[in-house]
Amino acid sequence: MKIENKFPGKDISEEDLKTKFPLVAKKNPNHVSKFEIQGVEFGGDLIPIFAGPNMVESKELIFNVAENIKKKGAHFLRGGAFKPLTFPYRSEKYTETREEGIKWLAEAKKEVGIPVITEVMEEKFIPLVSETADIIQIGSRNMQNYPFLTACAKTGKPIMLKRHYGASLRDWLGAAEYILYEGNKKVILCERGVSVPHTHRSTSRFLIDLQVVPAAKEMTHLPIVVDPSHATFWRPWVPSMTLASIASGADGIMLEVHPDPKNSAVDPLQPIDFNEFGELVKKMNLVAIASQNRKVIK
Ligand code: PEP
Ligand code: MN
Repeated sequence: MKIENKFPGKDISEEDLKTKFPLVAKKNPNHVSKFEIQGVEFGGDLIPIFAGPNMVESKELIFNVAENIKKKGAHFLRGGAFKPLTFPYRSEKYTETREEGIKWLAEAKKEVGIPVITEVMEEKFIPLVSETADIIQIGSRNMQNYPFLTACAKTGKPIMLKRHYGASLRDWLGAAEYILYEGNKKVILCERGVSVPHTHRSTSRFLIDLQVVPAAKEMTHLPIVVDPSHATFWRPWVPSMTLASIASGADGIMLEVHPDPKNSAVDPLQPIDFNEFGELVKKMNLVAIASQNRKVIK
């Protein structure tokens, strides 16, 4: 593949692939990373699903979600105990559960039997979070915190790197290179919406960038997951954008699922409920077969 780029710096040049992110760069069209996390294969026939609430609100909530999403086909339980909340104000409902939340995730993982992906935001909590997380999530806001990326990489744990909503593919792959540079090869990229002037709804903060999926797959061998919940910020758009994400070539899907979406402690406009999730999984499987000759159901 020959990439013409007269204006290096904005988009990816041929030179970048060799000198800026040689570890992340695809070496030939068939070069695709395949690895297993807790028996779930990435980059293979399966398109894994991560599902769960935005925030680990309580022990009851996380057990309820873990059981129901597992039954309906999710491969990983998602949920933040440490949350990058945009404003510093907290209320009884709108608060992080932090160390306690991580403990509940650990209990749900053990008792329900589903692996966990959860975010870590501060270096001092990396040891605690990596004890429970099967995949460490690096949130969009930390994507370019390079010393933090290095510290997470050094745990040797699989890492999902969410794209910052203002980052180019070039900057995103540069950040991923920091993780591979530490010898950590289990890296998953996640598109979660970008900042643009128009989002077609006043409540939607971001626009899903599905074009980045085929673009990333031209440049890198790493799997790319899409998070249509954070990208659309609007429940009615989540199912169609999930199916479109799979059709665009996504290697995984992250979805916010809550038993009572309207009363979700954080971002109540975006989660879907258990029934919607179950129905969507069936359609995801059909689109996965039709568009990628892959499956979401093992
Ligand atoms: C999340 O997945 O909970 C989250 C905070 O995502 P992002 O970093 O993409 O905003
Ligand atoms: Mn969120």
